[in-house]
Amino acid sequence: MYKVDFKNTDNINEYLELIKVFLSPEDFEISDQNPSKVFDLSEFKAFESDTIKKEDSDKNRLKRYIYKELSEVTGIIPSWGILTGIRPEKLFRELVLRENSTEKAGDIMSKKYLVQPDRIKLLNEIYEIQKPFCKDSSQKNKVGIYIGIPFCPTRCLYCSFTSNQVDYSKVLPYIGALKKEIEYVGKRMKENSLIAESIYIGGGTPTTLKPDEMKALLNAIKAFIPTDKGFEYTCEAGRPDTFSSEILEILRLFGINRISINPQTMKDDTLKLIDRSHTSKDTFKAYETARDFGFDVINMDLIMGLPGENISDFENSLNIVSDLKPENITVHSLAVKRSSKLKETDPKFNYKVSELTCGMLDLSRKILTEKGYSPYYLYRQKQISGNLENTGYCLSGFESCYNIKIMEENQTVLALGAGGISKIYYSEENRLERIANVSNYEIYIERINDMINRKEKGFFKLI
Ligand code: SF4
Repeated sequence: MYKVDFKNTDNINEYLELIKVFLSPEDFEISDQNPSKVFDLSEFKAFESDTIKKEDSDKNRLKRYIYKELSEVTGIIPSWGILTGIRPEKLFRELVLRENSTEKAGDIMSKKYLVQPDRIKLLNEIYEIQKPFCKDSSQKNKVGIYIGIPFCPTRCLYCSFTSNQVDYSKVLPYIGALKKEIEYVGKRMKENSLIAESIYIGGGTPTTLKPDEMKALLNAIKAFIPTDKGFEYTCEAGRPDTFSSEILEILRLFGINRISINPQTMKDDTLKLIDRSHTSKDTFKAYETARDFGFDVINMDLIMGLPGENISDFENSLNIVSDLKPENITVHSLAVKRSSKLKETDPKFNYKVSELTCGMLDLSRKILTEKGYSPYYLYRQKQISGNLENTGYCLSGFESCYNIKIMEENQTVLALGAGGISKIYYSEENRLERIANVSNYEIYIERINDMINRKEKGFFKLI
């Protein structure tokens, strides 16, 4: 057990996330009894001479000190340096704006945050692709809409979302409450001259809904939500076994132009192991059917570091999926969070596959780039294996504006349904105000009027 103690330091929680990059929470403790290392704020100041570093906050200086010490102890050199937040691209963009130079922003990323050169190159590439999407963030009347359907056929081994194994007796009341929120939001959007630039129906697995339920939901959206011309309209169809031709026909009929089919892996043994109720054959069939229905953009998700997988398994899945030529491919690094079954059974799993996941990530970048895909957005998560990132790739011209803007946090988002977190974006101050719905869907149904009041007071009264 590695024992850490802090001296002359407030709020040590700030530093624990960084320590977890190097050591699993089961392998270290905070203790003043024979500590392996004492991080003393009054000592570390002597340790840096570079101007950028010298002028930095005490908080970052101590983080760099922790980084140096734990790198030596563990031999780990984290790609994202001392950054533990989920939006490095947003930070990079803010630095470019402030310094008026991508070069200077890269220099700060390197010296102040100790981000590795390959990640700085990646930030630059993504910055260039995102430029046209971030230019219009001052168009205050354009918003993104998120609608959450918190039901799935089964719960995946690694899931930490507010997803619930579907109970069809609860779906109709949920759709009923959601319709109420949609009607109210749509009415208030019109009164405030807001229009949706994108609508994203996510979850959970929205295509768990039965055809009539899906129709009722899409009808409500169509009737009440004011939309921009040619708006991006996405529906996650996460599980390839959840949608039929009937559902796809309904989605197309209501104008959905982007669909996400998420195999996660093309290895059937792994699919069983992670409690997904579909096979790779279902994925092929789902993809083919979605193509036949003429969706403009198909996204497919893969996960690196799944239990029981080696690098060849991942390479195989990546090759199969990219050979299908979906317009978007999103490559996730497995994150093992507290509320997942995997965390219960193997708390250190994400640390164990850390090295393997790093190799998979390098491979995914190489293969996808060779096949014409470019990285266009990225984000990180807590407890992500290898302390890496999730990367959205696209074929040129098929970037999802919703994904870019939600990750860069430069647009107002109205989030409806259980677990939805709406955000008002104040562009002049580059500031966000958050308004959350409750995450439990049964409480959401019961308290739908409260949710509406919250939105009125916390959102529409403020914009
Ligand atoms: S499909 Fe996604 S939301 Fe549903 S159980 Fe699996 S990880 Fe959770």
